Amino acid sequence: MKRRDFMTGAAAGTAAAVAAGSGLAQAQKAPAMMKKRIEMAIVTTWPRDFPGLGTGAQRFAKRLQDMSDGRIKVSYFAAGERVGAFDSFDEVASGNAQAYHAADYYWKGKHPGWAYFTSVPFGLTYTEFNAWIRFGGGQQLWDELAAGFGLKGVMCGNTGVQMGGWFRKEINSPDDLKGLKMRIPGLGGDVMAKLGASPVSLPGGQIYENLVSGAIDATEWVGPWNDEFMKFYEAAKYYYYPGMHEPGSMLSVGLNKKFWDSLSKADQTLVEAAAAMENDVMMAEYNAKNGAALARLTRDQGVQVRKFNDDVYDAFGKAAEEVFAGVVTHSPLAKRIHESFDKARREIGAWSNLADQAFVAQRNRVLGVSS
Ligand code: CA
Repeated sequence: MKRRDFMTGAAAGTAAAVAAGSGLAQAQKAPAMMKKRIEMAIVTTWPRDFPGLGTGAQRFAKRLQDMSDGRIKVSYFAAGERVGAFDSFDEVASGNAQAYHAADYYWKGKHPGWAYFTSVPFGLTYTEFNAWIRFGGGQQLWDELAAGFGLKGVMCGNTGVQMGGWFRKEINSPDDLKGLKMRIPGLGGDVMAKLGASPVSLPGGQIYENLVSGAIDATEWVGPWNDEFMKFYEAAKYYYYPGMHEPGSMLSVGLNKKFWDSLSKADQTLVEAAAAMENDVMMAEYNAKNGAALARLTRDQGVQVRKFNDDVYDAFGKAAEEVFAGVVTHSPLAKRIHESFDKARREIGAWSNLADQAFVAQRNRVLGVSS
C-alpha cells in the first residue's frame, strides 16, 4: 500500500471509530478499516449464469470480494447488462469500468497479438499454455501488448481442448469446407477463410438463433458440456473433433492499467490469487463435466461424433502457417509474440509428447477406455 493511502485510510478509520463512539470493540476493528476501500466494475462477454464461462467469471468476482472481506466491492455485469459483449474492451480501456472477463481473441481486429492470449490454431493446451505464460515469457509479452491499450491482463480460466464444431454435413475433405458460413472467431476463423469458408464472430448469446435460422451453416463453441446447454444438436448433428483452432482457450481478466497501477501490492496480489484460483477451478469443472455431457449428446440427442481426417487436418495446418506468416508482418511486437509462442509449442510440446500424451494413450489402451 502506498504510504499516502495508508495515512488517509488510517485517519478516516480512526475518525469513524471516534465518531461511532463505541470504545474498544470499534477500535479493535480499526486496522481493517485502515485499508483503502475499492470499487470495481467488471463487464464481461458472457451471458449471466452461462455455464463455465459466465459462472466462472461470476465466481472470480465473488471470490475477489470475499478474499478482501468486502473491502474490494465488485459490481459484476454480464453481457448486455451494462455494455454489449464486444464493447467490454473499450469500456475498460477508457476507464468506464475497471475490468473485463473475456476471451482476448475477440480483440484480434485491434491487434493480432491478442489472439495468442486466448488460443491460436495448432496452439497450446492448458498445461502448456500455463507454462508459456508463467515461465516462457508469455506474461511479459502480454503485458507489453496490453499496456499499449491501457490494459493489464491476468489469466482467469480455461476451457481445455475445444471440439471442432457442429456441421450439418460431413466434412470428408478440405473441399467440403468451401462456401461454409461458420461461426469461428480468432485466428481459427482466418484459417477457415484460407480454406474457402466464410467465418463470422458472434458472441455466445447469438449463435443458436443464427444456426437455427440458417444464417450460418456451422459453428464451433466450446465442448460437450457448454454445447449441450446451447442445444446446437437441434440444428446440426455432426460434431467434429479435435478442434484445431482452440486447443486450450484461456480466459482473461483485463484490467484498466491506471486502475491496476493504483492498487497496492497486496491488492494486486489478491486479484492475481483470485484469478489464478479460477484458472484452476474452471479447468477442473470442464474436465469433470465434458465426459458425461458427451455421453448424453450421443445417447439422447442422436449426435454423430466425427473425427477430422488427416487430409482435412493437413489442410488446417498449411492454412494456419499461412495465417501466422501474415501475423508476423503486422508489427515487430506481433512477430515477437509469435516467435515466443512457436518456441514454446515446440519445446513444451516435445515434453508433452513423452509425458501426458504417451502416458494417457497407454493407460487408456491397457484399461480399454475409448470415446
Ligand atoms: Ca470456441
